[in-house]
Amino acid sequence: MLCPACGKDCVQSAEDILASIEYRYMACRDCAPEPGLDKTRSLRDLPETIERCSSCGKGSLDAVMLDALRILKEASLRDESDTLRSVGSPLITVGYPLAYPPRLGPGSLIIIGERLDRNAARSMVEQVPEIKGVILQKGVPGVRDRRTPPMENRLLAGCDMRADVVQSLFGDLVIYKSQSKIHIEFPRQSAPKMKILENLYYQGKLRDVADGLAGPGTLGLMCALAGAEHVVFNDAWLPAVKNILLNLEVNKKLLGITEIEYIESFEELAPVGREAKLVCRAGGACKIEVYHGDLTRLFSRTEPAELCLIDHFPGAGTAEMKKACGCCKEVVIV
Ligand SMILES: [Zn+2]
Ligand SMILES: [Zn+2]
Repeated sequence: MLCPACGKDCVQSAEDILASIEYRYMACRDCAPEPGLDKTRSLRDLPETIERCSSCGKGSLDAVMLDALRILKEASLRDESDTLRSVGSPLITVGYPLAYPPRLGPGSLIIIGERLDRNAARSMVEQVPEIKGVILQKGVPGVRDRRTPPMENRLLAGCDMRADVVQSLFGDLVIYKSQSKIHIEFPRQSAPKMKILENLYYQGKLRDVADGLAGPGTLGLMCALAGAEHVVFNDAWLPAVKNILLNLEVNKKLLGITEIEYIESFEELAPVGREAKLVCRAGGACKIEVYHGDLTRLFSRTEPAELCLIDHFPGAGTAEMKKACGCCKEVVIV
């Protein structure tokens, strides 16, 4: 599957990812023990480099972060007194809750941090095989509210498309995110949002659902997997809508989707949508519609849902949204 961010084949179908996820991060018989470097120790006290395994080719997270730190030092962005932690946050792709330290293969890590520049980022992607992309962090990306301009972090090098395996009682899905433009949520076992969905499911309420601030589509797609007959997705942020469309393709088989029809081309759409525009329709086991626009206008374009889920931007108010979705039988703030 072609990646819409880098144009290469870095996107895999959900069934392919799930078939091998248990083994993806395991050490082989020949892997050296976990180096367990002290993350607060200065570079001057750390080894020069840590070899990758000669059998499976994988490396420990420490090995990758150490190479990254050496490149940053070379670029005069860090010095001998800096630590592994100073590099930034390592985001593993595919994200999956692990009980052991991961062994990383090529293209399995995106680094997001501060004090980075384009040249150093390019060297990291070119010289460290595990590093897929490097993002300069400025804040929480996305649309906070209609009055605030959208925030985007800057992809300095490589590709920022990463996936998480999201687990629930209904099964697992793979959710891709353009990580410089979509806020970071770590997959956890017993994730609170999934618990909310599971409770709604037991009450027989996951039949006709609107995922009002859908982001990359996690909640709505999980409702479809749980057997909902109708799911409407909406987001004002164009990168989120693009991710929803990609996630429909990626999870097509698991969701029993047989047809996807694209209605609006992305070139015609503004980065932040106002009027709710129908972008895509999908059919099969579940009837799906994807809208790009302001949630307060969604139900002037589509029928009110039995259940409207509002997964709001961290820290933003929900009163206005709740009012606008008052026509739905039930509104749940997630
Ligand atoms: Zn890519
Ligand atoms: Zn190995």
